[in-house]
Amino acid sequence: MSNENRSIHNFDINLICEYFSYIERQGPGSPEVTLKALNFIDNLTDESQIADLGCGTGGQTMILAQNAPGQVTGLDLCPDFIDLFNNNAWELGLQNRVKGIIGSMDNLPFQKGALDLIWSEGAIYNIGYERGLKEWNTCLKRGGFVAVTEASWFTPERPAEIESFWLDAYPEIDTIPAKVLQMQMAGYIPVASFILPENCWIENFYAPQVAAEKIFLEKHAGNKMAEEFIANQQHERELYDQFKEFYGYVFYIGKKI
Ligand code: SAH
Repeated sequence: MSNENRSIHNFDINLICEYFSYIERQGPGSPEVTLKALNFIDNLTDESQIADLGCGTGGQTMILAQNAPGQVTGLDLCPDFIDLFNNNAWELGLQNRVKGIIGSMDNLPFQKGALDLIWSEGAIYNIGYERGLKEWNTCLKRGGFVAVTEASWFTPERPAEIESFWLDAYPEIDTIPAKVLQMQMAGYIPVASFILPENCWIENFYAPQVAAEKIFLEKHAGNKMAEEFIANQQHERELYDQFKEFYGYVFYIGKKI
């Protein structure tokens, strides 16, 4: 595989966790977009159980908790992110309602039918959108909601360069109608889908990485894997700039039938 097409999956998880702990968000998004998605979800009460899967350091979780009632559990594989997550919850005075736990989204620690809402921004790709939607469904109550962001094609066809990058990085990328149908087939009523605006990528995800890259490269001077990882991030950023009319993240919101 050429370096150009290396995907994030080829790098050491500890290195990835360290790098992304330098920035507030570990994926594209914004408070506005989180709130927009939350607007499609009704019936939440103080008793509601909410889970944010692949929560990272909790950028979106805290917005969610400040704007929705109920108990919120953030779950992530990376222990450093969970530490930062729980610190953030304390600093915002949310510690009684918001808890971060270490765990994997492919083996959820929730009872069948226990959850009112499953949230996941920029993370379901780790186990795949179709698999995630199907497996998580059992933890939701009937009438509960799922809200996830997922890489999607905006057009039926696209240039070969960006197509081959994504087919290597995440072959499950598909068009919006295909993703909506998959949501329906996984046992949900597709309630809404909308494209995340460019600022979610450029200002909120890529711009903060410029400073993070500098710190990271200084710390890991001479480490080939670290250098390749950063080169990979930069390549991904350039591709986004060049091909952003063809792909991006889409919020998909569904209600369990
Ligand atoms: N939702 C956050 C983080 C997105 S990055 C945001 O939007 O900012 C993807 C996250 O998924 C990372 O925090 C990574 O540690 C986590 N992750 C990767 N594989 C996972 C798994 N199997 N179970 C739980 N979390 C996982």
